[in-house]
Amino acid sequence: MNRPIYRRANKWLTWLMATAIFMTPLAIFAQTQIVLHANRYKPADDVKLGRQAAAEAERQFPLMRDEEVNAYIENLGQRLVAAIPPEFQHPEFRYYFKVVNASDINAFALPGGPMFVNRGMIEAAHTEGEVAGVMAHELSHVALRHGTAQATKAQKYQTGAAVAGILGTIFGGPGLGQAAQAPFALTFLKYSREYETEADLLGARIMANAGYDPRDLANMFRTIEAQGGGGGGFLSDHPSPANRYARINQEAQYLRVNNLARDNREFLAIKERLRRHPRAQTMAEIQRSGQRYPNQGNGYPNDGSNYPNGDRTNYPSAPRGRVEYPSSRFRSYIALGVVRLSVPDNWREMSEQESVWYAPSGGYGSTNGQAVFTHGINVGVAQTNSRNLQQATNDFLNTLQQGSGNLRARSGYQRTYVGNRNGLLISLSNTNEATGQPEVVNVVTTQLRNGELLYLISVAPESDYNNYQNTFQNILRSVQLND
Ligand SMILES: [Zn+2]
Repeated sequence: MNRPIYRRANKWLTWLMATAIFMTPLAIFAQTQIVLHANRYKPADDVKLGRQAAAEAERQFPLMRDEEVNAYIENLGQRLVAAIPPEFQHPEFRYYFKVVNASDINAFALPGGPMFVNRGMIEAAHTEGEVAGVMAHELSHVALRHGTAQATKAQKYQTGAAVAGILGTIFGGPGLGQAAQAPFALTFLKYSREYETEADLLGARIMANAGYDPRDLANMFRTIEAQGGGGGGFLSDHPSPANRYARINQEAQYLRVNNLARDNREFLAIKERLRRHPRAQTMAEIQRSGQRYPNQGNGYPNDGSNYPNGDRTNYPSAPRGRVEYPSSRFRSYIALGVVRLSVPDNWREMSEQESVWYAPSGGYGSTNGQAVFTHGINVGVAQTNSRNLQQATNDFLNTLQQGSGNLRARSGYQRTYVGNRNGLLISLSNTNEATGQPEVVNVVTTQLRNGELLYLISVAPESDYNNYQNTFQNILRSVQLND
């Protein structure tokens, strides 16, 4: 199944082209260039170092045991990862996100991808954009490989140096190998002013790409200041917020925000959830109490293997390999800001221009430069000319058929429900563009309040369809609409 192609109204296209013509040169010339620093380490070293440090962090700090909160931050993090400009993406990196049950307003990211967001950060923020801002900033340190660049600069590099020694250089404290006995230094990840500025600038770009107002990163400084600076948190690792506020807002003028219409409903629900948890300790209190938090069993392996969202930078060259059977554990996502749905937790989320795919590894790839899926579900919104659901669905199927010439209806329309709303289901057969195998494509549609057509397209090979039918039904049943 190709990803569907449909066309927005001409008026919108005209606007887009006009904007592109006038805006692009300005954006190219005015955006601050970020140049990578010399780095004697390989990206794989970043990954190795980050893994070790993450394992240590998890021994030292309690992680939240709230799947909804964790899924929310993971989701938000992966949206930001997908928005990293291509020149700063590293296929080796494994980004994942965990919530630390600590009250300090802080977050930290480790080389190669692990990020820890304190519960206090989420509680302090006024908007999802503010949380996204801090995360985008931290993500930028990782993408720009600041940890190993700093170690390179310190000239302490020795071939074959122990990981703990290199980590000591990065964190400016005792090596993390020794930190197994000594407390994890609270002052880790101190970067130079130059690195911080770069992380702000790239963070602002990531924000804009991901559909957030880049100025929310700057706003978060004010929010933290208003709450007394967060006591040894983000601001003390990140000095002179006034300059940074101005600098980010200056850069924001040259960034075009991808219009993905984020809202704060889910964010506010997560904050409400956090209020029902017992009060969190500060990181200092946690360290004084000397608690250890090994293997809480609520996360993913530290090595990033099998991590469902671990690598979203590139599609493999073609769908290949064994496709894992859909997990019976489900994970909840918000697609396009309007659809909440649950999909097997061994499926990845992949954002396209106007739609989102959820698919198992081995179930997708690219053929002739186009993403092709053999297994999974695609959720998207299409603009239509008709307020009549059947007519709108007909129009949408026509555009689908233009992209996939082999699509044939196997049945007529059936009535169904999508998040308590009337919907239509039609089952089609197709020949997969990558494998040439027959596949079953089910299209479910309903209308959003603004008249747009919401669609869910499930795809599985005909030979494998029985194994996926229940999964697709469960996904459809889980759908809730927040439009
Ligand atoms: Zn920073």
